Amino acid sequence: MGRRAWLLGVIAVAALALVGVIALRPNAPGEPVEVTGFAMGTFVRVVADGPRAAQAAEQVMPLLQAMTQALDRFEPDSDVSRINARAGRGPVRVQAETVAVVQDALRLAHLTEGAFDPTVGPLVDLWGFVQTEEAPADGEGTVRGRRPPAPEAIAQVLERVGYQHLRVDEEASTVELVQPGMGLDLGGIAKGAAVDRVAQLFRDVGVERALIDLGGNLYALGRKADGSPWRVGIRHPRNPGAVLAIVEARDVAIATSGDYERYFIHEGVRYSHLLDPRTGSPARELASVTILAPKGVDADGLSTAVFVLGPEAGAQLVESLPGVEAIFVDPAMNVTYTSGLEGRIEVLTR
Ligand code: ADP
Ligand code: MG
Repeated sequence: MGRRAWLLGVIAVAALALVGVIALRPNAPGEPVEVTGFAMGTFVRVVADGPRAAQAAEQVMPLLQAMTQALDRFEPDSDVSRINARAGRGPVRVQAETVAVVQDALRLAHLTEGAFDPTVGPLVDLWGFVQTEEAPADGEGTVRGRRPPAPEAIAQVLERVGYQHLRVDEEASTVELVQPGMGLDLGGIAKGAAVDRVAQLFRDVGVERALIDLGGNLYALGRKADGSPWRVGIRHPRNPGAVLAIVEARDVAIATSGDYERYFIHEGVRYSHLLDPRTGSPARELASVTILAPKGVDADGLSTAVFVLGPEAGAQLVESLPGVEAIFVDPAMNVTYTSGLEGRIEVLTR
């Protein structure tokens, strides 16, 4: 091999490693298997342990790529894109997987009385929180040079938002947006739904220990090798390197919605991608919400919804849901949490 070709090879490998396409390490006996990659618009990291972990690990990236293909509204041929293209013109036949996620989205919309609304697509577009192809290098999602839309524009777009006009027919395997101009956006729960599918992959082959992380949507399966529970850090919303709290986790999903993922600052006010469907503007009472729940899809959807509801209504909802807990970080970086976390959380001084 010529020197130039060799050098190119090295660069290609380094570039692949950088974008983290897929790195699957086979596990020697007693060693955990690790999968890293990029899917559903985010970084993926899975660590699992056990004799058949490698077998399940091989299926992780193909599964996530298939889910992205179905659920991402920026993929031209995805189920969601086809549903959106036919808004106001009848039902669209989709995969059973998509039907299931839309049903979960509707269940959460009803539960949160619309604080979670999977039809926020047009509003997300109006505010300009359009997903970028690649995650920014610093992991931050600042949108520069943007300003809030005019109130009249918001009011107009809100007429096309409303989960009451989203229909799903399980038997026929169809989904329909009843009004023209509507747009389905499953960005608030797709990663959580994917976490559930990945956890199931490992459970199906009898894996007892795994930590699944899809861009901050986690599932902690079993315990750590030394028998202690997993310990999950809650990120400081204003200091990417710092941790504000550590929570113990075992057989539970954990999802965080924060105003630091995608946002812009205009005249000193922070506008994030977490939109209140009642006002049409970003919710502003909290800096982040972390939800612990038995299912990833609920943790993800509820983290978005509770962020929108704010600390009082949010805590009230979470306290009413068995097995669900929440950690709130307010704009002054004060940490509060629901009653079930007493003794399972350590709040660090900031
Ligand atoms: P992230 O995807 O950044 O981890 P979330 O899970 O909270 O965070 O999802 C945020 C995404 O959900 C937004 O980018 C948008 O696509 C969508 N979204 C924003 N507001 C709402 C809402 N009120 N209900 C449902 N989905 C929403
Ligand atoms: Mg969410």
